[in-house]
Amino acid sequence: MDMVSTVAEVRARVHQWKKEGKTIGLVPTMGYLHEGHASLMAQARKENDIVIVSIFVNPTQFGENEDLDAYPRDLEHDRALCSRMGADLIFHPQPEEMYQNACTYVNINNLSDHLCGKSRPIHFRGVCTVVSKLLHIAAPDRAYFGQKDAQQLAIIRKMVEDLNFDVEIVGCPIVREDDGLAKSSRNTYLSATERQAALCLSRAVKAGQAASANTTDASAIKKAMEEVILAEPLAKIDYVEVVDGKTMAPVDTVKPGDLAAMAVFIGKTRLIDNFIIGA
Ligand code: AMP
Repeated sequence: MDMVSTVAEVRARVHQWKKEGKTIGLVPTMGYLHEGHASLMAQARKENDIVIVSIFVNPTQFGENEDLDAYPRDLEHDRALCSRMGADLIFHPQPEEMYQNACTYVNINNLSDHLCGKSRPIHFRGVCTVVSKLLHIAAPDRAYFGQKDAQQLAIIRKMVEDLNFDVEIVGCPIVREDDGLAKSSRNTYLSATERQAALCLSRAVKAGQAASANTTDASAIKKAMEEVILAEPLAKIDYVEVVDGKTMAPVDTVKPGDLAAMAVFIGKTRLIDNFIIGA
């Protein structure tokens, strides 16, 4: 498994692989890889001849007061994990390689109005821009994204449809720690006490799922989730919302496929979790 840092090197290899008739799966990541990322690679490995993993902490998706500089990085660990998962190539560019003098961005309307898009106004413009670039650079047959970032997944599906990208977007289930906490690179920010407190997110998911088994009233589902978070002194709600699974617009009455999602601060660390109604 090789690691390259320039667009030209990825293109040269992709060109050769395509000439040989090989299919390509792309797994975009920001590194500090864990079993959530590994599950995407495993799925990509099953469905494609070639697996490319990108590792790039994308500056354009971080707001001014967010954790771009603090974001955890461990390239040696990441390399070992990609190699273990049978990846063929890591693309690890520097920001200058991706954004030299860039003036062009990809923006999505409506789907970014709620949930994370509301509290992180430029976030999805950065995500759509970098994912567009990666799709152009690696020209994959399939690209793999986690359901953990449910709004991101919905937005990328819509962007790919709207802009006629010739790629299949594959969504993969949330991978959790044994005690329920959704795996995240940001979990490393948590102190031991905060790590315990963070379990309120997965407990809120369970409470929401239980409520949704008995009611289609979105506000009742939301309330069941909020009650769990509010009972945890170290937690502060950023949002708890129930939205349409495709449009990401809030709903009053839920149907299968809708999304119940939350972002919660545990101390200074912002964590997200969600579940799909009826899944
Ligand atoms: P990130 O490195 O955080 O940008 O994540 C890269 C990809 O891995 C995204 O598509 C995420 O949704 C996915 N991912 C992150 N954590 C998990 C998880 N716990 N389970 C499944 N997918 C995940």
